[in-house]
Amino acid sequence: MSRTVYVNGDFVPEAEAKVSVFDRGFLMADGVYEVTTVIGGKLVAFAGHMARLARSLAELAMAAPAGEAELLAIHRRLVEMNGLDEGLVYLQVTRGVADRDFAFPAAGTPPSLVLFTQKLAVLERETVRRGIRIALVPDLRWSRRDIKTVQLLYPSMAKMEARAKGCDDAWMVEDGLVTEGSSNNAYIVTHDGRIVTRHLGHAILHGITRKAVLGFAVEAGLVVEERAFSPDEAKAAKEAFITSASAFVTPVVEIDGVRIGEGIPGETVRRLRTIYIAESLATAI
Ligand code: PMP
Repeated sequence: MSRTVYVNGDFVPEAEAKVSVFDRGFLMADGVYEVTTVIGGKLVAFAGHMARLARSLAELAMAAPAGEAELLAIHRRLVEMNGLDEGLVYLQVTRGVADRDFAFPAAGTPPSLVLFTQKLAVLERETVRRGIRIALVPDLRWSRRDIKTVQLLYPSMAKMEARAKGCDDAWMVEDGLVTEGSSNNAYIVTHDGRIVTRHLGHAILHGITRKAVLGFAVEAGLVVEERAFSPDEAKAAKEAFITSASAFVTPVVEIDGVRIGEGIPGETVRRLRTIYIAESLATAI
């Protein structure tokens, strides 16, 4: 079945969903995006994703394509038109269409706005049952990873490098410390039960799932330490996991060939995933 896609004001069949070759997203990766998970036909953490979108746009002095209420209406209509029960809505904003030039186009150039749905199993996943294997790679991205830009070439290469090593995903390392995963935030659980994940800053994306999960962890009485950790500390940890909008909380069972804990999904991770799913189902809109 062909999807219905949103392109600059129109809902069209995917084969007709086109943007200009002069779009700065295409030529310069001059664009930002968000991915919102859908469960039971409802949007998870929508407000958080829209707040981060507004921040990404502001950091790049890019015009907002629409207000939050309008974006919510577009998301909902797209979910409905595509009969999406479980999966995601991808949203991309670019600086618009202009002759190729490193300088930004004149103020007033309308931003481009594209949204599409993707069917995806998020609640039941093989990776959650078995846990994922991680390969460590150097973090060669630019230094404003807090802005969610469409410059995803290096994270794609990192993921391919991990796959070539027989792993599921990559964690990136800079100055001897783990920053984050190719498309997720990275965590370890220490032997005395503390949850450690890199502090916010320019080095990582401020995950919407990260914020929610850390909040739930504290509510559940767990101790959270927001600080960087090294590959050695990770390999010696009791548990490890990742979070993202679509992975939710997914266990990590191996890092660079070293088994984490028992080499099976840990208790803390399973508990956090259960809480996160319950909360997501309860608060989705
Ligand atoms: N870090 C990176 C580099 C990502 O691409 C993502 C996923 N967009 C995340 C972290 C997780 O963010 P979120 O929980 O908002 O999906």
